Amino acid sequence: MSATPPDDTSATGRPAAAGTLSATDRAHLAEALRIARATLADGNRPFGAVLVAAEGRVLATGRNAAAQTGDPTSHAELDAVRAVTAADRPAVAGATMFASGEPCPMCAAALVWSGVGRIVFGTAAPDIRAVVPGSPSFTLRCDDVVRASDATVAVVGPVLGDEGLAPFRELAAGLARPPR
Ligand SMILES: [Zn+2]
Repeated sequence: MSATPPDDTSATGRPAAAGTLSATDRAHLAEALRIARATLADGNRPFGAVLVAAEGRVLATGRNAAAQTGDPTSHAELDAVRAVTAADRPAVAGATMFASGEPCPMCAAALVWSGVGRIVFGTAAPDIRAVVPGSPSFTLRCDDVVRASDATVAVVGPVLGDEGLAPFRELAAGLARPPR
């Protein structure tokens, strides 16, 4: 039974979710958010992902690159799953996917196919949609997709507060600016 360190408190005032995350979990999620910000700077929607093996090794990272590639399925979680090397593929069983934003139904299904044991996401899809409208929206949440499968995958989130929405606010502000 792992205990949450007493100093591992959430900066976002979400004690229920914070209790399920270790300091290492939070560091991986912070990296996913850093990737999200970096890909936003490249003109993409700000989603980042870090796939971490059960023993703690980072297997792959991913980012949304749909604007750059023109591929609408170029999502961060899918990018990370595809980036895992053949040698590392067995280590995906029981791995954790840290995603800055809640995985969409496509990515949630891909994560079930990949065999991960846990999904931790920062920001809920409806909260993102409220800030950046105009993309497809699904009533199916990540947890709905996972629970509709026969896989056992723990879904934890949302665990980020306003810092998770900040890149989307920047995106929305950019969209509101007239083209130059
Ligand atoms: Zn997706």
